[in-house]
Amino acid sequence: MSDTIAAVATGNVVSAIGIVRISGSLALTVADNCFRATSGIKVSDFENRQMYYGEFFGAQEKQGDDSSASTRLSAGEAEESSPCFLIDLCLCTVSRAPNSYTGEDTVEFHCHGSPILLAEVLRTIFMQGVRPALPGEFTKRAFLNGRMDLTQAEAVIDLIESETPAAARNSVGQLHGAISLKMDSVYSRLLEIVAHFHAVIDYPDEDIDDFKIKNYLSTLREIEAELKQMLKTHERSMVLREGIPTAIIGRPNTGKSSLLNALLGYDRAIVTEKAGTTRDTIEEKVLLGNVLLRLIDTAGLRKTEDSIEKLGVDRTLAAINHASLIVLVLDGSEPLKSEDYDALRSIPPDIPKIVVVNKSDLPTVINPSELKELDINNFKVSAISGEGLSSLDDEIQKLFPEFGCTPSADSSSYGELITNVRQAEAISRASEGIRAATASLTASVTPDAVLTDIETAITAIGEITGRTIREDVVTRIFERFCVGK
Ligand code: GDP
Repeated sequence: MSDTIAAVATGNVVSAIGIVRISGSLALTVADNCFRATSGIKVSDFENRQMYYGEFFGAQEKQGDDSSASTRLSAGEAEESSPCFLIDLCLCTVSRAPNSYTGEDTVEFHCHGSPILLAEVLRTIFMQGVRPALPGEFTKRAFLNGRMDLTQAEAVIDLIESETPAAARNSVGQLHGAISLKMDSVYSRLLEIVAHFHAVIDYPDEDIDDFKIKNYLSTLREIEAELKQMLKTHERSMVLREGIPTAIIGRPNTGKSSLLNALLGYDRAIVTEKAGTTRDTIEEKVLLGNVLLRLIDTAGLRKTEDSIEKLGVDRTLAAINHASLIVLVLDGSEPLKSEDYDALRSIPPDIPKIVVVNKSDLPTVINPSELKELDINNFKVSAISGEGLSSLDDEIQKLFPEFGCTPSADSSSYGELITNVRQAEAISRASEGIRAATASLTASVTPDAVLTDIETAITAIGEITGRTIREDVVTRIFERFCVGK
């Protein structure tokens, strides 16, 4: 039996409601000690998942109590250590094992969201033999008690941390079991083949006829294709999660830093009339509509003898090569210069680009027919007044439809993008094992060799959902979580 843990689930911020969660065998007894429902019903007699209104009482610690484990009160002692005092008027709800988030008895107090008050609530709970929860410990218990598999547990943290609606939808699909379903299907098909191969090895009289081998080969090929398809989604999903690396380039003084600031909504980059102010690249994330961009403001592209500015230009060229979107900024209040053409030429043809003609609030000097000749679709904006920025947003949404938010009735179709590096690496290992098994089976290698390859794949698949995974890996996964989740 594991010990009882508690934490604030809603973070250390002032908010309308703050939730304190207790999980473990002492949860109900502790809650009986500190909560009096207005209805007079004891917490331990509450219906599951019903809200009860009442008073939460704290107990004064005994004189000289240093709150060390040895001096903490055990369950049932809190009331004896009176005087009791009212901490909050709040709601309390109970979920009993095994049908709770953690799979253990769980109590939640929905209090007023004051960090001071919530600390008092926790202090009262900790006086009764309950200890503070570690980061992610509630979800870790849910995993260890079989309430969710590892892909679902990882989806919980991804959902909490998601920065775009599309990323959130994908995570909720995974929480709903999108990856688990696929992996379970792969696992059971492989297990069936393994079982037969074991039988053949253990009982040499058993044989694998040609028909069966054909069937196994087709299953293995089918699985390999499925895994390959899943791996393909990984690259795309990383962009959903991390944002699109977007380099803002152009010659000095066209308004690159001003555009970055305008898109961010605050002054991140220094803006001056002096050319060459941005010596290094500046990177910031911004959500434009549903699309998450990692905007990189670069040093202006121009020929220079200044060694520091030269370094900046080199970094700009590197940023261009690593970008998935280039925003080229031209100054509409001046004629096109050779450096503008140089900047245009520096963009690799396979990277999507948007050309922005900035300073639309000033008289336009740039020749539109020149831009037409260059076959450049351009957007007139003013980084200072904000004019035209919304059409820029629209263009970006069009370029990256995967960030789109068209609601679908079938939520299970979400969640099929592999967002997690650990999962992608295990899928890749599984794929490798399947490929080797297919080759061995085709070459009529002995059953034990085929078995070794398939078992490699099974172990890798098991790691994804957490069927076969080392304790230290599990610990590392849950360390990413916040306290209270
Ligand atoms: P960068 O060198 O390309 O990063 O250019 P900055 O953002 O530092 O801007 C250079 C100068 O152009 C500054 O004086 C800005 O105030 C000015 N500027 C930038 N955008 C606009 C704009 O839309 N309209 C006007 N009138 N001035 C702008």
